[in-house]
Amino acid sequence: MAKGKKWVYLFEEVAEVEKVTGSWDGVRGLLGGKGSGLADMTRVGAPVPPGFTITTEACNEFRKKGQFPEGLWDQMLAALKVVEKQAGRKFSDTSNPLLVSCRSGAKESMPGMMDTILNIGLNDKVVEGLIKLTDNPRFVYDSYRRLIEMFGTTVFNLSDEVFEHPLTEYKATKGYKLDIEMTAEDWKALVETFKQAFNKQAGFDFPQDVYKQMELATKAVFESWMGKRAIDYRKAKNISDDMGTAVNIVTMVFGNMGDDSGTGVAFTRNPSTGDKKMMGDYLLNAQGEDVVAGIRNTDQIQNLGNVMPEVYKQFMDITGKLEKHNKDMQDVEFTIERGKLWMLQTRNAKRTARAAIKIAMDMANEGLISKEVAVGRVTPEIVDMLLHPQFNESALKNAEKSGAYFVSGVNASPGAAVGQAYLDANTAERMAKEEKQKVIMVRPFTKPDDVHGMIASQGVLTSEGGASSHAAVVARQFGIPCVVGASKMRVDLENRIMEMDGKVVKEGDWISVDGTTGKVFIGKIPTVETKIEEQTDLLTLLDWADEIAARKDIRILPDGRKAPGLQVWANADYPKDAQRARSYGAKGIGLCRTEHMFFETERLPIVQKMILAETSEERTGYLNQLLPTQRKDFDGLFEAMNGYPVIIRLIDPPLHEFMPDEEKLFEDVVTMRVKGETKGLKEKEDLLASIRNLHESNPMMGLRGVRLSIAMPEIVEMQVRAIFEAAADCTKRGIVVRPEVMIPLTGTVKELEWIQPRLVRIAKTVTEEKKVDFSYKFGTMIEIPRAAVTAGEIATLAEFFSFGTNDLTQMTFGYSRDDAERNFLVTYVAAGILPRNPFQTLDREGVGKLMQTAINDGRKTRPDLEVGICGEHGGDPDSIEWCHMIGNNYVSCSPFRVPIARLAAAHSALKYSGKKIAEDK
Ligand code: PEP
Ligand code: MG
Repeated sequence: MAKGKKWVYLFEEVAEVEKVTGSWDGVRGLLGGKGSGLADMTRVGAPVPPGFTITTEACNEFRKKGQFPEGLWDQMLAALKVVEKQAGRKFSDTSNPLLVSCRSGAKESMPGMMDTILNIGLNDKVVEGLIKLTDNPRFVYDSYRRLIEMFGTTVFNLSDEVFEHPLTEYKATKGYKLDIEMTAEDWKALVETFKQAFNKQAGFDFPQDVYKQMELATKAVFESWMGKRAIDYRKAKNISDDMGTAVNIVTMVFGNMGDDSGTGVAFTRNPSTGDKKMMGDYLLNAQGEDVVAGIRNTDQIQNLGNVMPEVYKQFMDITGKLEKHNKDMQDVEFTIERGKLWMLQTRNAKRTARAAIKIAMDMANEGLISKEVAVGRVTPEIVDMLLHPQFNESALKNAEKSGAYFVSGVNASPGAAVGQAYLDANTAERMAKEEKQKVIMVRPFTKPDDVHGMIASQGVLTSEGGASSHAAVVARQFGIPCVVGASKMRVDLENRIMEMDGKVVKEGDWISVDGTTGKVFIGKIPTVETKIEEQTDLLTLLDWADEIAARKDIRILPDGRKAPGLQVWANADYPKDAQRARSYGAKGIGLCRTEHMFFETERLPIVQKMILAETSEERTGYLNQLLPTQRKDFDGLFEAMNGYPVIIRLIDPPLHEFMPDEEKLFEDVVTMRVKGETKGLKEKEDLLASIRNLHESNPMMGLRGVRLSIAMPEIVEMQVRAIFEAAADCTKRGIVVRPEVMIPLTGTVKELEWIQPRLVRIAKTVTEEKKVDFSYKFGTMIEIPRAAVTAGEIATLAEFFSFGTNDLTQMTFGYSRDDAERNFLVTYVAAGILPRNPFQTLDREGVGKLMQTAINDGRKTRPDLEVGICGEHGGDPDSIEWCHMIGNNYVSCSPFRVPIARLAAAHSALKYSGKKIAEDK
């Protein structure tokens, strides 16, 4: 590391950091979220206590070498000198002492996951000086005991109990219930007790050297980056371990200096609903953690306007400014010290999915951000959460009537959760992971150590705390339904029960938690999906997303032509699915699997006879019986998708799937033989023989898809006739049809050469017979690697490609899609052999590369080749991005995932706007 490297920046040096790093993102990377926020607030003119930030680079160096990098300590001392001047106080001075806090702050916010130590700078001598200065011995001793406690637990890892136990005992002997009842003398006595407890546990005295305190605290914060809680959190949030944390040394200001002091936290908008109204809590005569811990009852921020009108006005001005400056909802922490307001933190606030969408929309409408920024801020995960289930309303009413109501609390994070109650994080996690149970974690309150249990749970319930308590903040962030502060409930950790007015819920019992209303019920209440039609903000935002993706110059084709981004289509087999797909914003049907039409109860017997037919005539006879019903199916689909393309895939599965179960049939035959029953035996024996005839060792690689069509062309001929007759009828009724016939599982162009012309002939015959004209296409699925690598040839016939990435993944990896997940994929992902399950997220390097080859070669043959994807990956944001990059025209997914896919398509368009389609092989 170069000598003379700058490890420390004063808050006012932010412009210099911006110059060094070249971007605000760079500033955040170097100073962390909190440090950059403090520096930025200083720049905007907010009253920030003087201080400095030690960079994340210093943290990473410290982690590598186990000691401060060269120059760091000297720079800290130099910065401290400046801070002393700015604060008008001196560190370690007994007459006018400066106290500082040492706060962690990584680039990505990790609330409560790392350490913070307050009141650094106090020792036995400074305490005396500070008492003289403040004339408030109660406050000074309280601050000192807090320092000893925090230092012991965070720097030397002593257990909370070491300090909590003597405090509880002390209060009990004095007959106190609350900390506020403690007098100066009491705290003074407790300071001595804490010092002894510290010495007993640590083996040495609490350090009186205040510089040593600052050094040790800084090192402890660095080390907390690699603490278990922080690592668990980063894993869950996909944050890299290499980023490191910054450390902020900030002048202490005190909210516990009397009734003209106080502290609080606030959101500039409502983080649950997104409403444009400040939401927050404050406490008079208290320190920061008292608010967050939810131990004392806080007051609503608006009431501060009555108590301290001037301070309130200033606070509202500053927070308004901060929101405008950061162009996002802010989550601020503040302290009032003897009537003076200090801003301690600002950051972009965590919010529920609903709030995220509303705030993005509102801010765009207010002109604070552009539509693009608004769309970019709403992640596919947010939309996923929003479409999460709610309780079925009538079931909920019944539950209320039948006395299943248990308790109410604060509705901290919306959504419905049903699970078995477990009373600690480890049990909750174990039951969820090992026993595969649906779990609700129930606690009096939660701490950062509990996050792993929360993440594993369907929902969280606490008896203490408010809307800004730890449980509430973390649950909102992870989209976990959560009710906090259900104060009538007693959580009895010893007897493993929860109790409310005589009603008892035992650990392991089922409960239903409504994070939207704050109510909790005993037992299981059925849930329902939320209706997208009612989510007007989301619908508008998705329209914006579509506008972005539809811009004509989003992508540049290899031949230089400009093209829009991805469209989103849906996989739908029935008219009702197609209607849902349209209401969710699909611009076409990318896959209608026709085999389900053969499974309908009244049709299956005909299908079975058709399969068993011995001559082509006999088979055609049965197919003619099926024709009218198939036509009706397609008719419904075209009508629902009026004006949009509908891709209909011809029959794909192997025929045995339509036949009765072989084992069961064999059992029947044997039973009949044993019992000597002859009636119907011969038919069953013949059927059994035919089924055995159809048996294949590897049916997924056997007689299916186009192979089946070649072996028994009558089936697909009937299907094509049904499609075109329906399309013709619809056209006559004024419906605009755009049928696209898709041939599955092609491996060689010769297969298409054999089948496609026969089918095209039927299409032509029908349109001529019916005297109608509409545009249609014949194309194929690319599901077999050979098809992908010979795509140039295949495109001579196929007018469109649709990647069947379920089969393509299966055939490229050689993993059975039905068994791999169960058998070895989990192990492969855990061992790092595969980065992810390739059946969920496209394997870009293998399967993705084949797709890229197929598109490039296909378009060389047919420049306007339409390309889509209809495997499960079509609804996965990461896979959608790849489809955008390689030049797909659309992605097709389940109707439920259409909103997520629309957003993901827009995000890809924004990320790669105006870029050339990737052509590399
Ligand atoms: C595919 O293989 O990706 C596909 C969509 O077809 P199916 O899942 O029906 O085999
Ligand atoms: Mg397939």
